[in-house]
Amino acid sequence: MSNCVIKVDSSKLAKLKDYYQPFLLEKIPQGAVFTAKKEGCTITAYRSGKVLFQGAKSQEEASLWGNEGKTSSAHKQVTKKTNAHLPENISSMSLIGSDEVGTGDYFGPMTVAAVYVEKEKISKLKSFGVQDSKGLSDKQIISIAKQVIQEVPYSLLILHNEKYNELQKSGMTQGKMKALLHNQAIQHVLNKIKPTMPEGILIDQFQEPSVYFRHNASKTIPLKERTFFSTKAEAVHLAVAAASIVSRYAFLIEMEKLSKKVGFSLPKGAGHKVDEVAAKLIQEKGIDSLHRFAKFHFANTEKALTISKKLP
Ligand code: MG
Repeated sequence: MSNCVIKVDSSKLAKLKDYYQPFLLEKIPQGAVFTAKKEGCTITAYRSGKVLFQGAKSQEEASLWGNEGKTSSAHKQVTKKTNAHLPENISSMSLIGSDEVGTGDYFGPMTVAAVYVEKEKISKLKSFGVQDSKGLSDKQIISIAKQVIQEVPYSLLILHNEKYNELQKSGMTQGKMKALLHNQAIQHVLNKIKPTMPEGILIDQFQEPSVYFRHNASKTIPLKERTFFSTKAEAVHLAVAAASIVSRYAFLIEMEKLSKKVGFSLPKGAGHKVDEVAAKLIQEKGIDSLHRFAKFHFANTEKALTISKKLP
């Protein structure tokens, strides 16, 4: 079994815990903050800041946290190498950028967007307020996204919960779903802008490039040799920042639709509040309804079931 260890500071540790919320296990070893099991990888984080990744996907999973926080020297080298792949002038190139939203949220779909931003449009997008979407409010996201989709070619794919759960049940990992959707969205944008060719493609990295290409092995992978990957890619090129805003916008709209359907507001994330709302949903509409509103395989389902049994 392959192992991988990284070292993180306390704020990063909190981020990891947040990220792995859907996959947390109840039993944790002594000295650990949490243990999570996600798609062929067990993640154990210790109070010392050491994070251990075990299993076939350990390298892939650890690489998600690659160039953030303090990492061991061996790991630092790996991330340095990854970023060295990026052309020096990448931020001023004409690129297709892609990003996704909803992978860690129990309720709601997974949304993936690809956006083509030619270099002449970069300043225009900046004037709309396109930037790292994490710093933007929902209201801002909606207003900026509406301007972006009027201005530049894009593709938006929504993987609704029924389909997501079906694929997941058939054995497909969330990582593969993401890889397929990114590639599809990029292909759609390329078709839209034909015969123009972008100078490259930049994907907000969610897995090792080799894994991404393997997942898409049976598909056409356009511009493979000009496809770049970077974590925090929204800070590298505005096309990814725009893709992030468009996918977040779609996620917000879908969540609103789902909330209307159930008759109450569905929270984002995968924390305790989500468990409580899911329990309410089970009580009102039965456990099967979760297939239509949630990512069923998340640990939240079990927790919600336990809570629902205690409800009056
Ligand atoms: Mg991303």
